[in-house]
Amino acid sequence: MKIWFASGNLHKKQEAAALFPGWDIKLPGEAGFPFDPEETGSTFLENALLKARTLYRQLAGGLGGLVLADDSGICVDALGGRPGIYSARYAGRDGAGRPGRKKPEASERNALLLEELGDNPNRKARFVCAMVLLWDENRFLAVQETLEGELVRPGEGRGAGGFGYDPIFYLPNRGITVAELSEAEKNRISHRGKAARLIAGRLEGR
Ligand code: IMP
Repeated sequence: MKIWFASGNLHKKQEAAALFPGWDIKLPGEAGFPFDPEETGSTFLENALLKARTLYRQLAGGLGGLVLADDSGICVDALGGRPGIYSARYAGRDGAGRPGRKKPEASERNALLLEELGDNPNRKARFVCAMVLLWDENRFLAVQETLEGELVRPGEGRGAGGFGYDPIFYLPNRGITVAELSEAEKNRISHRGKAARLIAGRLEGR
């Protein structure tokens, strides 16, 4: 059975394939159309639902399967929860929160975020993931999960795994960053992994 994943991100597809074993995860790009809708919602959940509905309409019910979408980001307590829904296009203090279309490189965003937080002793942060499984326009299951942690000090990012903010996201109870986890370990504890397991449970009739 197919699940159309409303994303253009190959890394997220790999994660989803591991999180939904037995399901055939497809990206819209594989059906010949790129997927990058404007995320106009004001919450993770609104954006996830917007992506799911947009893809559902694009597929026009013609390709079979269910539609899955997520919206995620990093929220830093001392920055009032920013960059939040703007995590993918965070461009520093002056650019944060502007719904521009440009997505800076991850290393650039990481350096800017650590610079903005400076030496603030409150380094608490969380990854948030809202995930929606859509049967049709009016039937969906929505969940939201988090992974709690801290931002490293400037210049102390490390690890080569994962993507995005992983090298600067420190897990105090493990003494490592998310980028130092194996993919399987990350899936076990991550915001996206926990959200996906709730949805997978529904698919398996639990
Ligand atoms: P989305 O594709 O609109 O959900 O954008 C999510 C953005 O948040 C990504 O581009 C990353 O910058 C960040 N993000 C979300 N989840 C993670 C994660 O697991 N690790 C690192 N960065 C993440």
